[in-house]
Amino acid sequence: MARYIEAVCRQCRREGAKLYLKGDRCYSDKCAFSRRGYAPGQHGQGQARKKVSEYGIQLREKQKTRRIYGLLERQFRNYFEKAERQKGITGENLLVLLERRLDNVVFRLGFASSRTQARQLVRHGHFIVNGRRVDIPSFHVKAGDVIAVAEGSKDAPVIKEMAEGLATKTVPAWLELNAAGLSGKVQRFPTREEIDVPVQEHFIVELYSR
Ligand code: SF4
Repeated sequence: MARYIEAVCRQCRREGAKLYLKGDRCYSDKCAFSRRGYAPGQHGQGQARKKVSEYGIQLREKQKTRRIYGLLERQFRNYFEKAERQKGITGENLLVLLERRLDNVVFRLGFASSRTQARQLVRHGHFIVNGRRVDIPSFHVKAGDVIAVAEGSKDAPVIKEMAEGLATKTVPAWLELNAAGLSGKVQRFPTREEIDVPVQEHFIVELYSR
């Protein structure tokens, strides 16, 4: 399985924004971007003064979105092509498709501190969807789907630790959390306003339309 090999925090520094890829660490003073908020590498500090081309802006916006959801280029491009075939605004369709991934939903429900951790938990078979075990992070949830911790995983240390913080967790309005039952429901698909990722998706559409 292909995956990123670039150091995680370098991705935030490269994109000039906090992408929240490392869970709790991102909210602490250990965050590398908070301490060194300039691009990585020998000339990183000088890059902020460079004039960025239109193509450069579009590319960075795409890369940022791809990194937030932890996808490789080919996977991301597939989502874009699917979004293009749907009715409505392509950029918004793209974000909704990304939000509907099971790993993202597990993260949004507070069952994991980052999408990376969520992906790992899903792969290890800790979740069921509508009563059936699903270990595919890219699985697309639908309205009405119920995602829950698998019965056999409830005593796993990583799940117990996560469960402690669930009672105070606020989830997006398109999801419903049952903290005591270690489950959540997809009420409907999110609107663009409910997707709090710091990206301007129209740049991605422009990039792929070149
Ligand atoms: Fe990005 Fe989180 Fe690393 Fe900070 S700690 S640089 S937000 S991944």
